[in-house]
Amino acid sequence: MAFPARTKDFRPPATWTYTIKVLNHQRNLEYNGEKCVGCGLCIHACPMDGKVISWGTAPGERILVDVEKCVHCGVCAYFCPAGALKLFINGEERIELKEPADEIERHSLPDFKGETLAHKETGAPIRKYLRGSLHVPAGLDEAAKRAAVAACPTGALELAGDGLAVDEHKCFYCDACSRATGDRIQPRRTLLLVDMADGISPVVKRIIERLMDEQAAARIIKGVDQYKARDKAKALLEGVGSQ
Ligand code: SF4
Ligand code: SF4
Repeated sequence: MAFPARTKDFRPPATWTYTIKVLNHQRNLEYNGEKCVGCGLCIHACPMDGKVISWGTAPGERILVDVEKCVHCGVCAYFCPAGALKLFINGEERIELKEPADEIERHSLPDFKGETLAHKETGAPIRKYLRGSLHVPAGLDEAAKRAAVAACPTGALELAGDGLAVDEHKCFYCDACSRATGDRIQPRRTLLLVDMADGISPVVKRIIERLMDEQAAARIIKGVDQYKARDKAKALLEGVGSQ
């Protein structure tokens, strides 16, 4: 048997479990295809730089995890807005983020400050932690417009005259309408609604760089660094901290 043992199992009607087992330590990443809304945000969030999660081709299995490359850190589960991904360690559901030289324990990822939307058909909760804008090109053909409306999980898009109307409150700036139109519709993610008062770890910094619009990511990272630097200087002046 290969070591560590890596397996992918299917449990009807639509749950796939990706498992890594080392001696008596077992991690399961569970993907529920019924809860998945096809937003693609897990693909950006995965710290393995797009090498592990890819789009699936079956309606019930919209994403695929490469179990040979997955490090079972759970970052995708943390950022999945629909709760379709879960990480279990030795049977206990939890989030843990592992860096090569650093282990970040549960609750060390920033807390979300966003809001909760509802799926347009099931009413299931969808967490909104991004703000931004959506570029809908002029002259989008009828089939593309209908495909985008059908793909949008929250009903943020509606046919309106010759174009599409976007409800900014319902939009969580995912990749669903973009993918349905062959990337003709483009989300631009400019604000991450999480609590960064304690600064950001190198791993979260990289997630921001992958998830966000390039300029917005640079602005967020610089802003947090400045905020941290200001607090550090204040603490030094007050004589309450030296690091
Ligand atoms: S983030 Fe969650 S809902 Fe979105 S595609 Fe990935 S598994 Fe599906
Ligand atoms: S309109 Fe917004 S929420 Fe709907 S699919 Fe497009 S990006 Fe996602």
